[in-house]
Amino acid sequence: MIEQIMRGYQEADTEKCVSILRYFNPVGAHPSGRIGESPNSIPNNLMPFVQQVAVGRRECLSVFGNDYNTPDGAGVRDYIHVDDLAEGHICALKKILSMEGGCITHNLGSGHGFSVLDMVKAFEEASGKPIPYKMGDRRPGDLATVIANAAKAKADFGWETKRGLEEMCKSAWNWQSKNPYGYEDAPKD
Ligand code: UDP
Repeated sequence: MIEQIMRGYQEADTEKCVSILRYFNPVGAHPSGRIGESPNSIPNNLMPFVQQVAVGRRECLSVFGNDYNTPDGAGVRDYIHVDDLAEGHICALKKILSMEGGCITHNLGSGHGFSVLDMVKAFEEASGKPIPYKMGDRRPGDLATVIANAAKAKADFGWETKRGLEEMCKSAWNWQSKNPYGYEDAPKD
């Protein structure tokens, strides 16, 4: 829907330049450990939840489904480091600054899929903390596998992901361990 709004905006004023970026699953934090993701309540997304289990704020992760048609039965996604995502934005901005009107659309992802259980293992290794988990029901609306085809971003911008799972998890843990409650204060009990 938002892509349609952006295209409509550009069609209404054809001198405008619009870049549509389709994010896959961003993970990680700034290398300083001072900027990171800080969900307002119970995290809906996998990695913020895993991070909160590792730091002791939550007891156990629920794995949403273990009967998908994937190598280990859990959902598979294309996880991308936030710094790779930031670099993708810079490429897109440079491109539209050189255009004289038009709309461009790109997927930003790695092209590789990892399962929920792969992510749990990678985070345990990066943090040195156990991530207890239990198998739960599928989440309505989830697909088995979602992986980016980022060939267009490579062809147009020379962009591709440079950072892997280990770097994603290490930077996320650096942020979460330094800021267990994100930008909030620890609750007073
Ligand atoms: N997931 C999970 N437990 C959670 C949150 C997510 O097992 O508490 C799974 C979810 O079913 C999906 C993957 O983790 O297979 C990524 O989910 P997320 O919500 O982070 O991203 P999206 O669904 O938008 O790809």
